[in-house]
Amino acid sequence: MVKIEREDTETAIAAQQSLAEEKTKSSGTCNTTAVNDALQEMFGEKCYICESKQVSSWQIEHLIPHKEDKDLKFSWDNLFLACAHCNNIKGDKYTPILDCTKVDVDEQIAFRKVGYFGVPEKLEFVPIVHDELTEHTCELLREVYYGDTPQKKVEGNFIRKQLRDELSRFKNYVREYACASDRKKQELYVTIKKELSSNSPFAAFKRWLIRDHADMFRDFMNCWK
Ligand SMILES: [Zn+2]
Repeated sequence: MVKIEREDTETAIAAQQSLAEEKTKSSGTCNTTAVNDALQEMFGEKCYICESKQVSSWQIEHLIPHKEDKDLKFSWDNLFLACAHCNNIKGDKYTPILDCTKVDVDEQIAFRKVGYFGVPEKLEFVPIVHDELTEHTCELLREVYYGDTPQKKVEGNFIRKQLRDELSRFKNYVREYACASDRKKQELYVTIKKELSSNSPFAAFKRWLIRDHADMFRDFMNCWK
């Protein structure tokens, strides 16, 4: 989970107009085309919780569950883009959590994949800031990547496989960068910077690979800012 800017783009303004209109109706919905388009644009077609882009079922997630409260239901600031797996797990169970449109989540939580060939893989979510919101967010992340029912465990495995593939691709770019010629270095710098940007899949884990090896990868420290 990384910070996503909630900007007033044309699409976002259209979404807010659509929400205002729906709010006046007796059976209004926040699931309009304008809202879906704006969320896809803002979140870069990525689930804000698990950071996967390989999603077949998108849902509009309310950061604070609305429980039919119209202000919460139709508030643009309360709407997030999540995959069905994460939305189902979060539900009312994990409230409140960090608001990734206001907070640099990966500065409050360390995201790590430990283990390698021959050593079991494990994902770690280590709170750096110790407060209720951060702790709750870590608990949600653990459940999202591992699941707590047989079905959710299968889904969690699938997301972890994507994460593994993404990270090994990313590591290859970084390894290549270390021994590349100046011209090739410039090209790879652009690629790696893109991989670390907020709309890249599993960006939080990629940024922590850089942070944990800051002495070796100084060129990339905070290049996502
Ligand atoms: Zn997800």
